Amino acid sequence: MIELFIQMFSQVEVPEASAQAMNYYQSGNFLWIIHWVWTLVIPLLLLVSGLSGKLGALATRWGKNWFISILIYLVFFIGLYQLLNLPIDFYVNYIREHDYGLSNQSFGRWLDQYGKMTLVFFLSVATFIWVFYLLLKKSPKRWWFYSSLVSIGITFIMAFIYPIWIVPLFNKVGPLKDKQLEKSILELASRAGIENGRVFEVDKSKDTKMGNAYVAGLGGSQQIVIWDTSIKANSKEGLLFIMGHEMGHYVLHHVWLQIGFFSVLFFIITYLIHKIAHFLLPRYHERFGFQHLYEIASLPLFLFLVNFFYLLSTPIYFCLTRYTEREADRFGIEITQNNKVAAQLFADAVGEHLANPRPGNLYKICRSSHPSLGDRVDFCNSYCPWEVGQPLKYGEYFKEEENGLSK
Ligand SMILES: [Zn+2]
Repeated sequence: MIELFIQMFSQVEVPEASAQAMNYYQSGNFLWIIHWVWTLVIPLLLLVSGLSGKLGALATRWGKNWFISILIYLVFFIGLYQLLNLPIDFYVNYIREHDYGLSNQSFGRWLDQYGKMTLVFFLSVATFIWVFYLLLKKSPKRWWFYSSLVSIGITFIMAFIYPIWIVPLFNKVGPLKDKQLEKSILELASRAGIENGRVFEVDKSKDTKMGNAYVAGLGGSQQIVIWDTSIKANSKEGLLFIMGHEMGHYVLHHVWLQIGFFSVLFFIITYLIHKIAHFLLPRYHERFGFQHLYEIASLPLFLFLVNFFYLLSTPIYFCLTRYTEREADRFGIEITQNNKVAAQLFADAVGEHLANPRPGNLYKICRSSHPSLGDRVDFCNSYCPWEVGQPLKYGEYFKEEENGLSK
């Protein structure tokens, strides 16, 4: 009873968003709309202007065979696409972040990362795109089904290589420098049932002032990663809660849940694209400048439809991620049982990320992959089943001898 009393009066308050944070929030919403309009308009313009058709014809003339033609088309298409996106990308990710004091990135480093990102993007597209066009050619009626299977395979490959091949291209990833902290994290991991856990530190302080941590990879490549910015900004107890949260994602197989979600989505979206593309092509092929969907010039049509359906499905995807984030918070609280530290961490993040802790409903639906910081502080303030004799939701995952652990 006394503990409950203390708990009630030691609630962490949700800080108000500063005027600067509200400005960042509102201008961010405006930029989000601009970004999406642009993302849809670019492929649409390339398609209806017939520019893609002309580029496709040129690539077919230049490339002696089908495969080379696709590569030539891609070089021009991705080059043009990146060029059209450059002003917005540069403003959003470099100028704006510096204006609000959130970035540590030098211009040279931004340019270097942008170049590498474009190269990785080009190589990933060039590696897989011919499979889809081959399927379109060989199986015009069923290509959507086989393409979904291929997309699931690609998702597995990309998820597997992301932490071990892609992340190290941009930042240094290595073991935790603070060995005392590493020992405590590995002890926590062992309590969460993760043996031989891999915890890595990334030098994100070169890029940003904000902190983050995540679980990435699949099977043998799976790892828990924390940015050095988070390590610098938080107490050891705070870091153990962050790690407890990430271990929740790991133990509860949230990466698999997301892959499952996307697998279902691939089938639905590619089927709809198949139907719409076959409806549009006979009507507008002269304007588009190509006769068949298996011609590489159809790429902007597919890109437009993929982006359009991706935008439509984002609110559903965010329902899933908000759920997994809440459950990871619950896992983190249950294993550390340090509500005040967890609540304070989210309260501090309001200032650190220039966040609006209580965004509007439209923002939550369209843009919130995580519960709002206000909701997370409230949850951490109030969730302590052990105080009222309730069982832990994830107690079964914790090692036997640690069950019922008390502070
Ligand atoms: Zn999370």
